[in-house]
Amino acid sequence: MKIDVVSIFPGYFDALELSLLGKARERGIIDLQVHDLRESAHDKHRTVDDTPTGGGAGMVMKPEPWGVALDGILSAAPADADPLVIFPSPAGDVFTQSMARELATESHLVFGCGRYEGIDQRVFDEYAARGRVRLVSIGDYVLNGGEVATIAMIEAIGRLVPGVVGNPESLVEESHEEDGLLEYPSFTKPATWRDRAVPQVLLSGNHAAISTWRDEQRIERTRRVRPELLPPEHRGESRGRHAAE
Ligand code: SAM
Repeated sequence: MKIDVVSIFPGYFDALELSLLGKARERGIIDLQVHDLRESAHDKHRTVDDTPTGGGAGMVMKPEPWGVALDGILSAAPADADPLVIFPSPAGDVFTQSMARELATESHLVFGCGRYEGIDQRVFDEYAARGRVRLVSIGDYVLNGGEVATIAMIEAIGRLVPGVVGNPESLVEESHEEDGLLEYPSFTKPATWRDRAVPQVLLSGNHAAISTWRDEQRIERTRRVRPELLPPEHRGESRGRHAAE
């Protein structure tokens, strides 16, 4: 997968040199390039923002540097590529695991990180008229810029790209996967830590009983924390069971 990111703070993306995504980049599974938007601003001060037309607080990102940066990235893409341009925005579609799965099948993603009050609307309109554009929110809160949102999306998408996570089975049983329930609580050794024992069933070696216990825990945890995620067949009364966590 090819990923281009445009930002005025390229240093944020150093974090993506670490861990599984860093290894995936070394192995060529993910080709991530970060572009400094200021290099596409050609005035003396490399200005990327200006006052809002019509008045109001804050500054808005100027369209010209975005045009230069995105034209450069998109014109360098192969003729048969159909890059998807994503602008992180609190006013976009909410990012979910299912969107991450969908985006993990793309061959080329371009992220445009806004700052200040955001990017001039004409940038979205221009690239939506020329190709595929999505505004995507990582949740109902406001960040200072699109960098952290982009890193969250790249991490969630990237780990679903085949070959990035060594054991693909570890992706299946996670929260928000398959049936959309939250994951069961996890334990490791020792069997007792500070008088807190691992649930006995997990030490039983009885795989059917362990699987049943984990399913019950997933339903109970989801009922307690995120009841809106429960499928209709599990929306009955809580049995008062509480996960050991
Ligand atoms: N004035 C904008 C509004 O009210 O919708 C908020 C601008 S915010 C301070 C600056 C930038 O941070 C946005 O352009 C976007 O790139 C990013 N951002 C902020 N919150 C976000 C969120 N929840 N999801 C994705 N990106 C976000």
